[in-house]
This record gives sequence, structure tokens and C-alpha cells, in this order.
Amino acid sequence: MDALSVPRLKPRAGVRKNPYPKSPSRPLEQIARIGIHTSRSKSLENSAEIAHALGANAFQIFSSSPRMWRASPPDPADVQRFLAARQKYGLAPLAIHVNYLINLATLDPVIREKSIVAFRGELDRAQMVRADYLVLHPGNYKGQSLEEGIAALVLGLAEAALGFSAPGLTVLLENTVGCGSQIGSRFEELRAIRDLAARETALPLAYCLDTCHLFAAGFDIARPKGLDATVSSIESTLGLDGVRMIHANDSKGPLGSRLDRHANIGEGHIGEDGFRGILAHPALRHKPFILETPVDEEGDDRRNVDALKRLWRA
Ligand SMILES: [Zn+2]
Ligand SMILES: [Zn+2]
Repeated sequence: MDALSVPRLKPRAGVRKNPYPKSPSRPLEQIARIGIHTSRSKSLENSAEIAHALGANAFQIFSSSPRMWRASPPDPADVQRFLAARQKYGLAPLAIHVNYLINLATLDPVIREKSIVAFRGELDRAQMVRADYLVLHPGNYKGQSLEEGIAALVLGLAEAALGFSAPGLTVLLENTVGCGSQIGSRFEELRAIRDLAARETALPLAYCLDTCHLFAAGFDIARPKGLDATVSSIESTLGLDGVRMIHANDSKGPLGSRLDRHANIGEGHIGEDGFRGILAHPALRHKPFILETPVDEEGDDRRNVDALKRLWRA
């Protein structure tokens, strides 16, 4: 696939020259990081309790209602209990998934303004709860070219992050199924966003890859050959170190279907064998795996955590 040509934006003073400062090589963790998205509807503290009770050692939450623009800051006492629970159970990393309404790539000025304000709220809340990652969908470029959409997204990110700094927090761009004018189903698009963003903002950006989205976008990670080919393109386009987290979801839609429908591990088109291969792959094995699987029946969360652990060991 051709590299994308993104418009050259005028860099502001103080922008780093090298978009990829070499990070010190981190030792691979000796134990698996298996996590799950949990509900914080009762309290933040409760979301950590649930993750631990399910047998997870990493987790993801929403920091506010995912389908509403309005959000309020977390209760400081709850945050303290949350931090204590995370420490007690050794829950790391913590990811926050951004609200579904946010579309920083949009042409619509009203939605764009709301998205920038809402994304700043996401950054601020992620900092308050000491999240490691903030996971963002690149958005939808409807009515523009893909390149214009990417430029709009990056400028929106930069505007939202003006004056923001939180050491330890990295924004992760999540790959998508590429339905309609969704940005981010190709690795070249994610890379173009990160490159352009490095010129516009000091906000650190990396990637989160979702297995269901990869499969539905046409990457055959369910079979060894397709998995190896996918990992090679990840290495050459994104860089392995740039992938900080994996969303582990089976896919209800077949290969290349562009359907974003998550299935329980082993119950979709990726299947148990597919996940065994993914979890055993030396390039992926030591990444944190976070489940975002449906609860069709009671106990599904627990079964999915157990399945990932069992397949990781296999
Ligand atoms: Zn997502
Ligand atoms: Zn996901």
C-alpha cells in the first residue's frame, strides 16, 4: 500500500524535531498482562474491585458516560480509594476508553467544538485517575479527503491538548474496521496521524490494536501465515514498540467484513486456535491484552479472562 501524503502543517515553535525519540528498551514483563473493560457505574473503586475479582491484572474503563457529552470530574475521595485498590491488586496498566461521540476529524463545526472540549475533559480525567493510556478512535472524515480528515483530527488533538501535560499518560490510537469513512483501518493511516501529531503537539501518541477490528478490516490474524504477515506490517509501518496494548476480542463478522461486532473469545471467526496463535506470538505475547467482549450470558467476563489465561499458557 502506498504511504499517505498528509499535508504539511506549519509547525509551532518548540515542536520536537525527531518524532520518535528512542525510548529506553523496557524489559519484557515475565508475566502476562490480561485485563478487561469493567463498569465504573457504581464507583471508580468498584471498577478496580471487579477487575481483580475477575482474575485480571490490567483493566480499562470509561471515565464518564460513553454516549453523553456531559461529564463531571471524578469524586476525589473515590479517586483515592481507586488508586489504593489498584496498588493493592497490582492492576496495571489502566486504560481509559474515550467517549464514543467524539469525532475530532469531523467537518461539522458544532460536533468539532464539542469533540475538542470533550477530549480535553478525557485528558484531564485520565490525569486525575493516573491512567497509563487514553484510547481514541481516529474518527470519521465524511465529506473530506482522508488526508484532510487526518489533518483535522491532528489539529483537534493539538488544540485540546494546549497547555496540558501529564507525564505517564499516552494517547493510543485504536485501529478500526474501516467502515464507510472511518479513519484508521490501515496501519499507514495510524502512522500518518502519529507523524503529523509529533509536529503539532507534545502529547505522546502510540497505538492500541483491536483483534476484532484487525480481522474485520481484512488482516487474517486467525491463521499463522496471516498473523505473521500482519506482524511484519506492524513492524515496518508502526514499529512493534509503538503498539502498547491489544484489545482482545473475537469477531462476529467474517474476515474483511468491516463489521465492528465483538464476540467472546473462541466464539467468533478468529476462534480459539486464532487466539492461541496471537497470544503465543513472540512479538505480541508480552503486550497487555484487554477484553471488550459482550456479556451475552452471566459469567462471560470470567470465562473470557480464563480463556485468555489458558490460551496464553498453552
Ligand atoms: Zn475502541
Ligand atoms: Zn477496541
